[in-house]
Amino acid sequence: MIYCVEDESSIRDLMLYTLSVAGFEAAGFENGAQFWAAMKEPYPQLILLDIMLPDEDGISILKKLRAVSATAQIPVIMATARGAEYDRVIGLDLGADDYLSKPFGMMEMVSRIKAVMRRAAPRESQPLLQYGGISIDKAKHLVTVDERPVTLTLKEYELLKLFMENVGHVFTREQLLSSVWGMDFIGETRTVDVHIGTLRTKLGARGGMIGTVRGVGYRMEERHEQ
Ligand code: CA
Repeated sequence: MIYCVEDESSIRDLMLYTLSVAGFEAAGFENGAQFWAAMKEPYPQLILLDIMLPDEDGISILKKLRAVSATAQIPVIMATARGAEYDRVIGLDLGADDYLSKPFGMMEMVSRIKAVMRRAAPRESQPLLQYGGISIDKAKHLVTVDERPVTLTLKEYELLKLFMENVGHVFTREQLLSSVWGMDFIGETRTVDVHIGTLRTKLGARGGMIGTVRGVGYRMEERHEQ
C-alpha cells in the first residue's frame, strides 16, 4: 500500500491511477489531517509526500514520521516544487529516501518508487541455502558440507545451486546444459555427466543426495527423515 499526500486533486488522481495500473495499491490524502487519520497499522510500504500542503507541510509530516520508531523506517519520497532546492535539501537531511521535482512524469514516479522499495526491502532474500548438511552462502560464493568448506568450480557451483533451489525437481541434461552453460552452449550432454561426477565426489558423503533419474536426468533427492 502506497500513501499519496497531495492537495491538488488532478495530480493526486493521476498518481493513484498510475499506481494502480502499475500494480500497486494506493490511497490518496489531500492534507496532513487526513493522512494522520489513516496512519495506523498496517502502515503503508511507502509514502509520496508533497511539501506544499494547505495545513501541515510535508517537511513537518516527514519530521514526525521519522521521530517515531514505528514509522521511522517507512520509505518517503518527497515531491518538491521546481527550483525549491532548499526544500529538497531539508527533506533529504530529515531522512527522505528520494524526491521528485514537480512537474514529474508518471513513469519517472513509478521507477523512483520501485527503486526506493528495492533499496528498502529487507536483505534476507535467501542469501543462505541449506539442505541436508549442504549450505551455500550465495553472497560469499561459499559452499560447506557438514560445516566443512568445499571448493567447487563455477559450473559445479551453479549446478549445486540450481539443485538446492529446486529440491526434488528433475532436470534433464539438456535443461542443465542450457541453464548452467547457457542457451548457446554447443556441447554434449556428457559434459553434464562429467560435472555431476566431480560435484558428487567433492560433496563426499553428501554426494549421493544428487540422484540420477534413469533415462531422464538428475535431481536433488528429497530427504524423508523423521
Ligand atoms: Ca501541493
